[in-house]
Amino acid sequence: MSLPALLALALVLPLTAAAAPVWQNVSTEPGKRIELDRTSIKRQGSTVETVSRMVLDRELVDHQSGASYQIIEVTTRYDCAARNANTLKRTFWKGDSVVREETLSGVDLPVRGGTLDDKVLREVCRPPKDSQAGLVAKANEAAGQLREANEALLKKERTATPVKSPAASVASGSDAAVKSPPSAVLVAPSPPKPRSHAATPAKKAGGGYMLEVVHNEKPKPPVEWSYEGPGGPENWARLDPRNALCGSGQRQSPIDIRDGIKVDVEPLHFNYQPSGFRIIDSGHSVDVFFGDNRFTLTGKTYALEQIHFHHPAEEIVEGRRYDMSAHLLHRADDGQLAVIAVLFERGAENAFIQTLWNYLPLEKHLGVEPPGVTLNLDALLPASRNYYAYMGSLTTPPCSEGVLWLVLKQPVAISAEQIEIFARLYQNNARPLQATAGRLIKEGR
Ligand SMILES: [Zn+2]
Repeated sequence: MSLPALLALALVLPLTAAAAPVWQNVSTEPGKRIELDRTSIKRQGSTVETVSRMVLDRELVDHQSGASYQIIEVTTRYDCAARNANTLKRTFWKGDSVVREETLSGVDLPVRGGTLDDKVLREVCRPPKDSQAGLVAKANEAAGQLREANEALLKKERTATPVKSPAASVASGSDAAVKSPPSAVLVAPSPPKPRSHAATPAKKAGGGYMLEVVHNEKPKPPVEWSYEGPGGPENWARLDPRNALCGSGQRQSPIDIRDGIKVDVEPLHFNYQPSGFRIIDSGHSVDVFFGDNRFTLTGKTYALEQIHFHHPAEEIVEGRRYDMSAHLLHRADDGQLAVIAVLFERGAENAFIQTLWNYLPLEKHLGVEPPGVTLNLDALLPASRNYYAYMGSLTTPPCSEGVLWLVLKQPVAISAEQIEIFARLYQNNARPLQATAGRLIKEGR
């Protein structure tokens, strides 16, 4: 190669390298890894638009084009404050060629914990290190000013009349301290000047955060939602402002399904097929992920996201509570969620369930993906596909509404031993019944 050519190459190379995506690994799981293009991150206020991709270990067949792909690249807009994700575009790749591209209508959906979106959101919504350091410096400076103001005040108070040190009230009960603004706690008998001086930076950094710095205490770990105790259903709305609907929603699930209008409901067309699966104990239920499974209702197609189980069943149907239920969570292209509920009643052994239980993970949050084992979700459905329909919500935080519930009328059998196995993990993971509040329930006749 000639010298000018080498020089030209040296000039071009760094430029090309800078323009190329920089893929950062966000998570590696059995069968796939999630990567984030650091160069794609665009921040605006609390929203971040970014390109991430899922790289599969083996190729999958795209049902629309019939071609195989191994990489799904997704452009998503995350709302870091509301913890919403809006998928804008998906591109299916095989090697360097695009198999198919789809632009989506773009609906803001809540990001559930443990999902791929959750992992990317956590990564991109984390404030950059510099600004975090800046924030801490600012907070410490503000804390110093608070302390100075406080000491000056104390000195003044002491010279006038001896008073009980307000430091005692600060040290006692972090709960009370967190609830009140820092100025009120630290500068109890305050003249107006130090109060306003102290309050301004505190507001900027966020009340709770500032308090942690001022008190030099470790932040309390957030209470995880659960089915009993402080994280129980009656407290879900209080655990996180994003769970507000769990407390105030008017179209919540589960409900007591009764007095439905008896009509000829539209048939459910299932396009379920054998696939491998991944089973994981989420800490709230046992979740199972399958390959491509869909159903169609009134011309709209819903793709399966995951299935999970409740013990006892969450819904009450015509006055009866079943031993267990499975929720098959689906999502349409426009973001609409639909849950097919399968009711279980004590009886013969269920072969489908047995296969799942055979692979129950030994540890929570540790997925198992048995190689060479396939299941057809169709085998979990009862012979009759008749159903009840109503509009409700997710039955777990954030309790998002607008969920189409399709509760299959015919229960399927499960053995007492199989129920017992699940009950060993989850004695009770059923949310209490919610008010029907005049909602229309359809019952297929
Ligand atoms: Zn459920």
